[in-house]
Amino acid sequence: MIGIITQDQLKTSPTLREDGRAFDELRPLKIEAGILERADGSSYLEFGGNKILVAVYGPREAQIRKLQRPDRAVIRCRYNMAPFSVEERKRPGPDRRSVEISKITAEALRPALILERFPRSVIDVFIEVLEAEGGTRCAGITAASVALADAGIPMRDMVVACAAGKVNDQVVLDLSEEEDKAGQADVPVAILPRTREITLLQSDGNLSEDEFERALDLAVDGCLRIHEVQKEALRKRYGE
Ligand code: ADP
Repeated sequence: MIGIITQDQLKTSPTLREDGRAFDELRPLKIEAGILERADGSSYLEFGGNKILVAVYGPREAQIRKLQRPDRAVIRCRYNMAPFSVEERKRPGPDRRSVEISKITAEALRPALILERFPRSVIDVFIEVLEAEGGTRCAGITAASVALADAGIPMRDMVVACAAGKVNDQVVLDLSEEEDKAGQADVPVAILPRTREITLLQSDGNLSEDEFERALDLAVDGCLRIHEVQKEALRKRYGE
């Protein structure tokens, strides 16, 4: 049989990705504030296939002396992936990756918080990944910021995070898990949306200077769009 290539098959769309998104398109996003009764602040986020719950406790007096700072509160973050959050059951408990993400999350959030108001105190942020599908560190930061605002912790600004990267030689926004695995680079970014100050910038993989610039611009643009959803979640909770 003679193979015939139809006109349709010839049409390649360089902008469309595996899941049908355009290069600058975010996955569907939903954020809810204040969903846990017992935490001081909380949020729930769905971003593509990610499902993340955040609980905030504090500020409360730091019981451990070593933790106390005489002039400000300390923020502690714990990022945790549920054993059922990934395809193959994940061993419960902390590992190198979760320790790293917990650390960079606290660093990304800290510049937004007015910690000087609460000397000798501690603010605890628990990020529970119930289902993971790529980009959980960014989604965790975005959700944590909403939970901190819900806890009434004074903030200079929100913090919002989003990744961009390179897949099939194309710079794209918000990598899915599949894209992250097959892709050439991943650049998670967190910003304070008002000033656009960057509080997290990581880069995994290989990018030219030009590609890196484009990834950073895309990620910042994605952050600003995600910030609108954060604001909407808080508006829904507290009215205006
Ligand atoms: P991020 O979630 O911030 O993108 P990584 O790049 O480390 O962080 O992970 C990418 C994705 O790989 C995760 O979102 C998750 O979907 C998947 N993943 C991470 N750790 C595991 C694991 N232990 N088992 C299976 N999948 C995992």
